[in-house]
Amino acid sequence: MARCTHTSPAARPEYAVPRHIVPEAFRDFAFAELTTAPLHWPGICFNPDCARDFTLARDWQMYCCMACERAGTAELRAWGHRMALALLTWRMGKYEARDKAVRARTAAARRYLSQVQSAWLADRQARIARARQQGGGA
Ligand SMILES: [Zn+2]
Repeated sequence: MARCTHTSPAARPEYAVPRHIVPEAFRDFAFAELTTAPLHWPGICFNPDCARDFTLARDWQMYCCMACERAGTAELRAWGHRMALALLTWRMGKYEARDKAVRARTAAARRYLSQVQSAWLADRQARIARARQQGGGA
């Protein structure tokens, strides 16, 4: 019978670093809501640099092709990376009631996120308009 030879407490699971809790993807978390009110127009590519009309192969299809899906994933990563620290900062100070410096830091994170969200949406809308004007939507 095999016997554990690790005698150091650090090698035992009860002393191990806890596993990271990875939340489910937003698409799964809000599946019902996104089904009722999709973020994209079905049959119009969600990649703002493409935005062309296409024939759906599946109801949930957001992109016309793999290249557009990759571009969409890259866009989400880039903007998500830009906002990640502010999101964490906001959450870390969300319930701070006394420390004025932490409250100011939290408010700055909120303001930053609001600005970035607006900039992202404006950027997407401008790219969609440009792509459709150049014939991507036809
Ligand atoms: Zn596309």
